[in-house]
Amino acid sequence: MEFGWTAVEQMHRERIRELLDDLLPPDWEQMSLHGPGSDEQTAFSKDFCAELASRNLLVPNWPRAHGGEDAEVWQQFILGEEMWAVGEPRGPQYMNINWVGPALMKYGTPEQLEKYLPPIREGQAVWCQGFSEPSAGSDLAALRTQAVPVDGGYRVSGSKIWTSYAGHADTCFLLARVPASHGGAQDKSGIVILLADMKSEGIQVKSIPALIGEGDIHEVFFDEVFVPEADRLGEEGQAWEIIMYALQHERVGVARYEFSRRILDRAVGKLKESGRWDDPSVQEKAGQALMLCEAARMLVYRIVDGKARDLPPDAYANVARWAIVLADNGVNDFLTENLPEGLLGEDPVQQAHHQRAIAAGVASGAAEIQLNLIARRWLELPSERTRT
Ligand SMILES: Cc1cc2nc3c(=O)[nH]c(=O)nc-3n(C[C@H](O)[C@H](O)[C@H](O)COP(=O)(O)OP(=O)(O)OC[C@H]3O[C@@H](n4cnc5c(N)ncnc54)[C@H](O)[C@@H]3O)c2cc1C
Repeated sequence: MEFGWTAVEQMHRERIRELLDDLLPPDWEQMSLHGPGSDEQTAFSKDFCAELASRNLLVPNWPRAHGGEDAEVWQQFILGEEMWAVGEPRGPQYMNINWVGPALMKYGTPEQLEKYLPPIREGQAVWCQGFSEPSAGSDLAALRTQAVPVDGGYRVSGSKIWTSYAGHADTCFLLARVPASHGGAQDKSGIVILLADMKSEGIQVKSIPALIGEGDIHEVFFDEVFVPEADRLGEEGQAWEIIMYALQHERVGVARYEFSRRILDRAVGKLKESGRWDDPSVQEKAGQALMLCEAARMLVYRIVDGKARDLPPDAYANVARWAIVLADNGVNDFLTENLPEGLLGEDPVQQAHHQRAIAAGVASGAAEIQLNLIARRWLELPSERTRT
């Protein structure tokens, strides 16, 4: 068993760190506090991602046929780790790279690839994910937004909620269902995926004030919005398979623990400066928070290793996601207890971490659902449905 990085991987990491030193402006930390959906970060992400693209560092993991470099899974992952360590300067575009692009490459038509991939790999596209609805979050298959088949496409009516980046998005990866009156099944198989142009007539976006930053989450209303059939991803009836594929890419391999680790190291520095670090109980608790970050890292590495070896996803993915939430919360608890003044206005970086830790167990799917999956897939306990 070999846990070390190869010389090539180490050089890759060094190269990215040097690049980040060059490309991030002196006020980056301040800018990152506005949140990835803010005007500032969205605009910055377009310059920053274009710079990455010009160095073949935006989508190196994509196949050459689609403008990538066929890079090793680990190379892309190291890139992601370094981005998260500094607060994810790719802003909303991390999503395009991680899962929108791969889903398009696997299920898109040649016309869709030609239309949507170039702006993603050039770092100029902003997408939003139109999944959740007021009565369909964890139970995504309960979604009710309707896609009525009409001549040449669909008319979409309904609403989405908690949609990140919708205020700046060009395109929505939208889930809707064909109504029963038009032959649509009322379960998962009646869902269609539409790549909806956010400038279409009938779309209204309303920002929701959010803990995690300005302009981050929204309600999106669809009133008889026309989406051409050419912008449906996959066949009718294939949507659930595509969603599962997309979520696998969305939820695995995001190195959030790296950000928590940075915040923890920063806190330890402050505690040392103020003399509070000499207290052994503070050191012990810092050790516990550190352990949570490193456990999350090791679990994520296991998932990435499986991906690199083309193994099917297993219950470790659910355990890793839970561990990431524990790491976020463990560091947050440590900071709240030992540097409370940071939360009272002295340290906006700590405040931002605190707010994002609260959201961490909800965004990308509620963490409790992961526990259900661990119970079922790993512990082989009976599911709610099979329990008598
Ligand atoms: C910061 C942020 C960004 C987001 N961005 C997006 C986005 O871009 N696009 C998008 O579509 N959505 C987005 N979401 C929404 C997110 O995916 C949902 O909030 C999440 O799936 C939970 O759904 P819900 O809010 O409807 O809560 P519910 O599903 O109603 O859950 C409420 C509570 O009940 C628990 N619960 C529900 N069902 C079960 C069960 N079977 N067993 C045990 N416990 C259960 C949950 O764990 C949770 O604690 C975002 C959310 C946040 C916080």
